[in-house]
Amino acid sequence: MINVTQPYLPPLEEFQPYLEEIWKNKWVTNNGPFHHQLEAALTEYLGVPHISLLANGTLALLTALQTLRISGEVITTPYSFVATSHALIWNTLKPVFVDIDPLTLNINPDKIEAAITPQTTAILPVHCYGTPCDSRRIGEIADAHGLKVIYDAAHAFAVRQHGKSILRHGDLSVLSFHATKVFNTFEGGAIVCGDAKSKKRIDSLKNFGFANEVTVTAPGINGKMSEINAAFGLLQLKHIAAALARRQQIDARYRAALGDLPGLACLPQMPDTTSNYSYFPVLIKTGYPLTRDQLYQHLRAQDIMVRRYFYPLISEFSVYKGLASAARSNLPVATQVSREVLCLPLHPTLTDDEVDLVIDLVRSPKKAA
Ligand SMILES: *Cc1c(COP(=O)(O)O)cnc(C)c1O
Repeated sequence: MINVTQPYLPPLEEFQPYLEEIWKNKWVTNNGPFHHQLEAALTEYLGVPHISLLANGTLALLTALQTLRISGEVITTPYSFVATSHALIWNTLKPVFVDIDPLTLNINPDKIEAAITPQTTAILPVHCYGTPCDSRRIGEIADAHGLKVIYDAAHAFAVRQHGKSILRHGDLSVLSFHATKVFNTFEGGAIVCGDAKSKKRIDSLKNFGFANEVTVTAPGINGKMSEINAAFGLLQLKHIAAALARRQQIDARYRAALGDLPGLACLPQMPDTTSNYSYFPVLIKTGYPLTRDQLYQHLRAQDIMVRRYFYPLISEFSVYKGLASAARSNLPVATQVSREVLCLPLHPTLTDDEVDLVIDLVRSPKKAA
């Protein structure tokens, strides 16, 4: 079986010394030594001012919204993993969906201003598949209307633009270190922020709102990352350069073999951007011999576990369907892309033979059918 994503697991014996250290210290969670080390290492590696680790990306999103005391309505994209909007509902915020740009598949800045109402307090864009949002435009709109910007950067680990981390954009950026992501701690997440005061608030919120041993200043949550997860992150970080390099090779192999295929479109590569090659989405158009869903079934039948990220749109789920902004007429591009998209397998443990098998099946889908 070939999975669409697969966690990179370094040799088990490399993890042994970390476990021995934890057993020796008997410090298993609550801001332990590995937690400290991973925050320092990621701050350095990512080139960001401050980072706070959390137990997963969803708790990081919830906590980011609490950090900035967001209220009312939040403008966001329907073309994402459902946790993006769920985090709004859990904060009793109203998602307002805005259509996406057909090239980047990120929220279309040209459509944001029309969605702003007196209740709007923030924008929650997603760097979908790690493709950077137009942060300059989004920042200008936010400034003009007094809005906060929180990026769901779950796909954007290590992505750089003009030589700098895109995690520096907006007020806060949220990462996921879930097993399926480019950098994983089994489960994990983080919030990137620009100043020490915000980090202090995040660190308090993720620890029940404790300011010190006897003072609780906010209704916080248990969002702490354990020592085991932090230790695994430190080990993972030793292998990240090799993992990213392998991802790049696979991306290039797909592009070379599929770039000219009639009826199939790869996403364009962004100028001045260091990608993390987190996903390989293709769009299946008329002109391809099969429909998207036929190709999906065909590959699945060969044990190639492709995924339709992101179909259905978040706005199609029953929780969101009733919102005025969820109407398909408001989201024509997102609706069309969600019907065309298929993510091909991309992870560092794929062999060239496996990639070539996927390529052959996509290039001549009838051969094996
Ligand atoms: C994975 C993901 C999340 C959620 O992260 P978890 O760590 O799984 O909670 C949120 N947003 C997007 C876009 C994601 O892909």
